[in-house]
Amino acid sequence: MEYLVATMSDRQKTIAKLKGSLYSLSLDELVIRSIDEAEFDVSDMNCLYCDKQKTVIRNKLKTYKEMVNGKEVSIDVTRYPMNVCPSCNAEFDNMDVSLYLQQLIRYEILKALRSRKPIPEKFRFNEIVKM
Ligand SMILES: [Zn+2]
Repeated sequence: MEYLVATMSDRQKTIAKLKGSLYSLSLDELVIRSIDEAEFDVSDMNCLYCDKQKTVIRNKLKTYKEMVNGKEVSIDVTRYPMNVCPSCNAEFDNMDVSLYLQQLIRYEILKALRSRKPIPEKFRFNEIVKM
């Protein structure tokens, strides 16, 4: 695992950390489980209100605000994986996932600025977290 991580770019490492946080897995566990299954829809998070009820992951729209050259821009992420309790419907946004995603959005903003392209207003979650 050490060697695998060492050859990854900072952006790829961020994606690995984001995915580990999303599914509450260490990097080793993430790699092992990723080989066995391509997607997970049940998280390892318990609902804060319902006793030991595991949350499930539902795709929602999430909007990020970023300052670019002194101007606030709004970026929508579609199909963002939110932890939802199947019995009381409470939603729990994973703070680590949200922060890593914000970092990935900043990479995309920098990429657009460097290539003098307009900053995208919308990303699909699965596309932005692709290695
Ligand atoms: Zn609940």
